This record gives sequence, structure tokens and C-alpha cells, in this order.
Amino acid sequence: MAKLDISRAVQILRETAAPGGQSVVLHEPRFAGAEWDYVKDCLDTGWVSSVGAYVDRFEKELAEAFGVRRAIAAVNGTAALHIALMLAGVKPGDEVLIPALTFAATANAVAYCGAIPHFVDSSMDTLGLDPDALDAWLSEIAEPGPDGPVNRKTGRRLAAVVPMHAFGHPMAIDRLIEVGEKWGIPVVEDAAESLGTLSNGRPLGGRGKVGITSFNGNKIITTGGGGAILTNDEELGARAKYLTTTAKRPHRWAFWHDELGYNYRLPNLNAALGCAQLEQLPTFLAAKRRLAERYRQAFEGVEGLRFFVEPEGAKSNYWLNAVILDDAAQRDDFLAATNDAGLMTRPCWALMCDLPMYENSPSMPLPVARAIEQRLVNIPSSAVLGLEDGE
Ligand SMILES: *Cc1c(COP(=O)(O)O)cnc(C)c1O
Repeated sequence: MAKLDISRAVQILRETAAPGGQSVVLHEPRFAGAEWDYVKDCLDTGWVSSVGAYVDRFEKELAEAFGVRRAIAAVNGTAALHIALMLAGVKPGDEVLIPALTFAATANAVAYCGAIPHFVDSSMDTLGLDPDALDAWLSEIAEPGPDGPVNRKTGRRLAAVVPMHAFGHPMAIDRLIEVGEKWGIPVVEDAAESLGTLSNGRPLGGRGKVGITSFNGNKIITTGGGGAILTNDEELGARAKYLTTTAKRPHRWAFWHDELGYNYRLPNLNAALGCAQLEQLPTFLAAKRRLAERYRQAFEGVEGLRFFVEPEGAKSNYWLNAVILDDAAQRDDFLAATNDAGLMTRPCWALMCDLPMYENSPSMPLPVARAIEQRLVNIPSSAVLGLEDGE
């Protein structure tokens, strides 16, 4: 195992991300388009809240960007995932297969449904859920039940699987769809980090029964807070809109809600931001790929660390750039040295199985997820770092 020369790595990061010597954060939003105009339009017209023309326009443009029939704007990605899981049929007492290596929202949305996350290992090639490892694990633990496969160890139904495209890199979604079909388990795609990414030429988020995305402040485009439910099924799309808008039956005056609904609407103000941000997505994508290419070249041949490049068949959005250290024991020194130098870096998420609320959840062995957790570090990735003069 090669040792990393940490001061050399800091120097490379400095030269690549911040040659002017300035401090850089991990990911900052950029508002260089029509944001002020569109938000002002909301204020001028009074359309600031949960209905309005920007919501409709944003949903239409999102559907195009994700290559799906319907996109339903929501107040954030976590809320969108809560509804998406309900749409996929997840019920209290079910188990939902999710990668152990993900942001807490993936597991939390499962818990909001009264269901239990069941952790799956990751792939070193994609950083996402490993469909072959899942297939092998299901051969060990799954048996047919009256309403889909059941975990024979717990007796609980395996109601859905939620892949996540870590840092914008596509996991092996097409292979997972096959595994899902083989076992009769619907796929709910967490595409929170992967707007703009192509996998075998197609956007992510629309391969499974339903998908979601997020527009939190640190994502590739932001609405302040926001998210969307994505689906090719018109009926599910209509139901998503209904559930996220308090389950109110349309009527000229009557307040009639015929089931438990949710106020998960995205305000028009936020959608206005989103419309302006979407217009800049091609610029952001080009800038981020330029920055990633600079990192790739700069770290080429550096021992003890590998810059993570997009998997085969992928055109990634490079939302958050990542390096993987050979030696986990060097990670904290690398984090300290970079942050001390004003170059913001962050470790990977803690594995979900280590969080107190999920420590008793079922899990397959997680050797790869553990290795990634211990060795991966995210490095500065804002689009502004890759923009060219005048952009
Ligand atoms: C950001 C994110 C979410 C949820 O997004 P919010 O909009 O912050 O609720 C869900 N899953 C993953 C993997 C994310 O990165």
C-alpha cells in the first residue's frame, strides 16, 4: 500500500481548485442567471406560495431534464422520497433495501413510512449499491410471500429497493432493474445527487417505478430547499401531486380531503429559483466536468490516492469530486491538512447501520461500503471553480 505525501496532495488541490490562494468551500450555489428577475416576478405578482406558474413550468422542465413523463415538485428531496416510497407500495412493517452508504435522508424516508431499512453493500466501481451482491444476498435470505418476497429471517416483506447515485456517479441501475424484476421488488431511484448525469446515454431517475431528486442548497442546482418526484406512470404522477398537496379533491369551494395527505408543496418562489437555475445547468455541467478533468490530470501518478472517475458508460455530473485514499489511517491527517489550508474537504457519510436509530436494522455484510466510508474524501467541487472567463 502506497503512502500519500499529504503536503504534496494539499499543493495539488491548491493549484487545481484555488490557484489564487483563496479559501474554497466544498460546494457553493451560483446565481448568475435570471434568479433575481423570476423571484421579483413572484413578489410583484403576489404568487409566492404553493401554487403558481413557476411551479408548473419547473415541473414541465424537470420532466424533460430527467426524461420522465411526470415530475412533481416537492418541498425537499426527503419529503419526495417519503411519497415515492408510499407510491411504490411500502407499508408499515415492511423492509426496504437501501445502500448502507448514503445520506441519512434515504434511510429516514423509509422510517417515515413505518418501514425498516435493510442495508446493502456498495460497489467500488460506482460507489453505489452493488446489484450482484444484492442478488446473491436475496438468494440467501428471501423467500416468496403472499404479497412479494419476504425476508425469511424477520418474516417481513421486502417491499422496495432504493439505489442512490453517489456524488452524481451512476450506480449500475440497468442491472439493478433486472435484479428487481427477478425478485419482484420495485425500484425507487434516489437521484438526489445526479441531475444531468447520463448512464448509457440516458438521464437517471426514471428507470424504476418512481424516482426522486433534490434541490437542496448544496446540490448541482438549488431552489433553496426543494425536491421532486419523478415517474413515467401518469397515474402515479397524479397520485403524487394529490398526496403532496394535502389530498384535497378539486372543488370550487369545498375543503374535502379524502385520505391522509401531506403539505409537501414547493412554493412558487422556490420554483422560480429552480427555473432560473435549470437554465444554467448546461453551463454548470460543463464547468464541473472541466474541473473534474483538471483534478484527474493533477492527481495522475500520485501514489496513495486515486481520483474517482465516472464509471464505464457514464457521463457524470461530477456533483462532488472524490478521492479514495489507499490507507484509511491517513484520512484524518488529509482532512486536517486540507481544511487547515482553507481547502474544504469532507469525509464520506457514516454508514447508516452505525447510526443509533438504525443499529438494529437488518444488513448484509458491508465490506466495500465500509472501505469506501473509511477512505473516501470529497474535495472542492463548486461549478464556479471550473467556469471559463465570461461564463
Ligand atoms: C440531498 C439528498 C437527499 C434529500 O434531499 P433534501 O432535499 O435535502 O431533503 C436524499 N438523498 C440523497 C442521497 C441526498 O444526497
